[in-house]
Amino acid sequence: MDDCIFCKIVKGEIPSKKIYEDDEILAFHDVSPQAPVHFLLIPKKHIRNIMELDTSDTALLGRLLFKAQELAVDLGCGEKGARFVINCKENGGQTVDHLHVHVLGGRPLDWPPG
Ligand code: AMP
Repeated sequence: MDDCIFCKIVKGEIPSKKIYEDDEILAFHDVSPQAPVHFLLIPKKHIRNIMELDTSDTALLGRLLFKAQELAVDLGCGEKGARFVINCKENGGQTVDHLHVHVLGGRPLDWPPG
């Protein structure tokens, strides 16, 4: 998608603080961190949001979540945990229309969200 900022990050047209990359997945620090640890994982393939997942994406999503787990542990969230969040569309608070998993950790987080 030409006008998608996360696709531009995938293509290297916008800089990011990369944590992990392979053929299908990219992880990078959130530009506006809401916790001491706050990073995003995205599929490189442009999927707008979780509502647009297809059954053919099952393995990709499984890999994305396992990578979220692995990187959360690497970044020190293994013992006390973290929050794994997927916002979707307007009511879900999604601001970037490219599917992404937030991982937030390093401090206790309130629940429920506002
Ligand atoms: P959401 O509101 O769930 O769509 O989250 C989008 C997230 O992307 C926000 O937490 C933003 O701070 C983050 N974000 C937006 N632009 C960038 C960027 N260029 N690099 C890293 N994170 C970004």
